[in-house]
Amino acid sequence: MAATRGRQFFQNPGPTNIPDRVLRAMDRPALDFMGAEFRAIAAECYEGLRALLKTEAAILVYAASGHGAWEAAIVNLFSPGDKVLVLESGYFSLNWGRLAEEYGVVVETLASDWRAGIDPAAVEARLKEDKARTLKAVLLVHNETSTGVANRCAEIRRAIDAAHHPALFMVDVISSLGSFDFRMDEWQADVVVGGSQKGLMLPPGMAFTGASAKALRAAASARLPRVYWDWRRLVEGNRQTKFPGTAPVHLFYGLQEALRMIAEEGLDQVFARHHRLAEATRRAVRVWRSNDGPEIFAADPRVQSDSITAVLVPEGQDAERVRQIALDRFNVSLGGGLDRLGGRVFRIGHMGDLNEPMLLGALAAVEMALELAGVPHGKGGVAAAMDYLAEEARRG
Ligand code: PLP
Repeated sequence: MAATRGRQFFQNPGPTNIPDRVLRAMDRPALDFMGAEFRAIAAECYEGLRALLKTEAAILVYAASGHGAWEAAIVNLFSPGDKVLVLESGYFSLNWGRLAEEYGVVVETLASDWRAGIDPAAVEARLKEDKARTLKAVLLVHNETSTGVANRCAEIRRAIDAAHHPALFMVDVISSLGSFDFRMDEWQADVVVGGSQKGLMLPPGMAFTGASAKALRAAASARLPRVYWDWRRLVEGNRQTKFPGTAPVHLFYGLQEALRMIAEEGLDQVFARHHRLAEATRRAVRVWRSNDGPEIFAADPRVQSDSITAVLVPEGQDAERVRQIALDRFNVSLGGGLDRLGGRVFRIGHMGDLNEPMLLGALAAVEMALELAGVPHGKGGVAAAMDYLAEEARRG
């Protein structure tokens, strides 16, 4: 019997819960997107996004999902036959590379162990080998939403510097933005790609790219065809001055409110809350691990993500069944396994508009679903998460 009463606990790693304040902010009539009132809203949003990305770079906003911003980054920077290095960390990194390939970009993939994330030393070594400087860019997914691995972005930047390589550094921050730290200027990311439906707590449909001066220069001479995404048409100086078509006004209303909520809470507090909820999740999974139970997919504690935890079920068990039971019996929506992780992991999103009782409710449903699915596990994961969260609350 499907669970229909009460509120659905939405623990997907994107889209995420949309706060009532954001929903109310969008409950407004349309507005002339050429007019002064809208321009003021947009200006506040661009400033807020810059603050979030810790950058002075140009930010471009599109009516699109994250794929659009991925594509914008590729078509603006490259010419047919250009070569790029994709740092493989899971499903999303590979797909960004595939998209580039469809455009005639030559993609070299630096393989990695999906459970460990990208090794900065391997990046340095590969770039040092590239004496002819044929690699035009390095593509990194900061937070691999498919694995729950948060790649070590600052260290990867240092690896590029250590190799003295001039490649553009392109970073997908789709599931880290607004959840944990990212510093576009300090880490010299030339391009960042973001989306609305994760840490920003908005509906899907709005995507962003940030472009450094170096990226804008590369865009001026790149030869791939582009119309909708064309930075040359949209940016003056280092500011987006035009939309490629009608601006998604309602998403801007929502973005303005979401950015205000983040500013009110304080970015560091937002990050601390994400860390706390992620750590509570990890404590629960570590308890479930006994009795040869499920484990955190991200094996190295240094790369365990603060926005999503992928839980690997024991060999011979079906993660999809756990996910389905949580949904059907307890109305808790989790993410499933992607690509080669299909049926092997379920994913607990803990980003965006979330607090302790919401997380604990979801973890309780997961613990019950493990029981109902007959997956061996240690008991008391939720209690361990509660103990940790209570201790954190005591410490203020
Ligand atoms: N990159 C990452 C890291 C993602 O998590 C996602 C979606 O979940 C995407 C790219 C693709 O974004 P979208 O589904 O909004 O097109």
